[in-house]
Amino acid sequence: MNEYQKEMIFNELATIKKCSPFYAKKYDGIDVESIRSQEDFEKLPFTDKGDLREAYPLGLAAVPEKDIVRIHSSSGTTGTPVVIPYTKKDVDDWAIIFERCYRMAGVTEKDRIHITPGYGLWTAGIGFQAGCERLGAMAIPMGPGNTEKQLRMMEDLKSTVLCATSSYALLLSEEIKKRGIRDKLCLRKGIIGSERWGDKMRKAIAEELGVDFYDIYGLTEIYGPGIGISCDYRNGIHMWDDYIYFEIIDPKTGKVLPDGEYGELVITTLRKEGAPLIRYRTHDLTRIIPGECPCGSRFPRIDIIVGRTDDMIKVKGVNMFPAQFEETFATMKDATSEYQIMIDHLEGRDIITVYFETPATGDARAAAEQELMEKIKSKLNVTIVPKAVDIGYLPRSEKKTNRIFDNRY
Ligand code: ZN
Repeated sequence: MNEYQKEMIFNELATIKKCSPFYAKKYDGIDVESIRSQEDFEKLPFTDKGDLREAYPLGLAAVPEKDIVRIHSSSGTTGTPVVIPYTKKDVDDWAIIFERCYRMAGVTEKDRIHITPGYGLWTAGIGFQAGCERLGAMAIPMGPGNTEKQLRMMEDLKSTVLCATSSYALLLSEEIKKRGIRDKLCLRKGIIGSERWGDKMRKAIAEELGVDFYDIYGLTEIYGPGIGISCDYRNGIHMWDDYIYFEIIDPKTGKVLPDGEYGELVITTLRKEGAPLIRYRTHDLTRIIPGECPCGSRFPRIDIIVGRTDDMIKVKGVNMFPAQFEETFATMKDATSEYQIMIDHLEGRDIITVYFETPATGDARAAAEQELMEKIKSKLNVTIVPKAVDIGYLPRSEKKTNRIFDNRY
């Protein structure tokens, strides 16, 4: 915690119970007003998504309703949605940090930014748009879907920057390849959502599209995408620590971990008015990268997100997460980055079946299956059932791709 963050956080805590009925209730009986050290701060209980759901619809508001200019909501596919109120300043601040993201990626006012994330309750699209307009570039607000139209506009309007989730970028790159239209496009940069994706997939997309790519990070509860982005060195994500304070904790014990160790990312907002959040658990697994980045930016870095605390699966007594499989595929000649893992409980035993796409056929395909089985055995010490399938066999999606299906319960 640097001096600026201390000042912002301690001031925030001094008034939060007065402004926010949500935190008045949460911190009932805790003397947060007098917290003056990082040590005491680290004793505060975490805020979790479940708490936010209970505040539905507008219980998170920490300002009078007249000051709320917009709401966003995170996906409510499971249960009650979370509604985040924004003040005018929150909306402006988000555009400011988003503009920074574009600048970090070398995007300028001369660019034409093709925005495929969705618009609406979900925060993504409008964040890309507001940052683009603030930068002074040209926004092409496509939203997701309609690949035919995407490619036509990309060609005719000479889009130079593609903003997309990794799975949608993959889908577009495959279509571009299929149609052989790469030479007609002007793409030079890709700004790709923070979804965890393997190095092999990055390289495949970047090469196919002929772009430099940057990972952008964010979540609806904390502005939306744009609280951090990778630089030209692509060695992690620089986080705007003058807007947020972040910690890495052990997801099981809640203990703060030293820099360099993998754990769950926890974020405290420093400037948010509409819905300030203290020690919010993102459930994203990453680590703080120690040391300076060669790009010279003073903003600290986290590593690429390696998974979600809920993707962490325990099979046969072993903790594993998707990144470990992705790393393995990256070392294989005959595997792409597309895969799916099914876990079943049959006849008293857990069975892990790993489907992966391969261009190989016949003996080479059988050899790829054998190779995967052996590599996972030596990496994780578990035996899997490998199933090679044709390229394009596994589902692609415009939103985040679910890769692990645990059918045991
Ligand atoms: Zn850097």
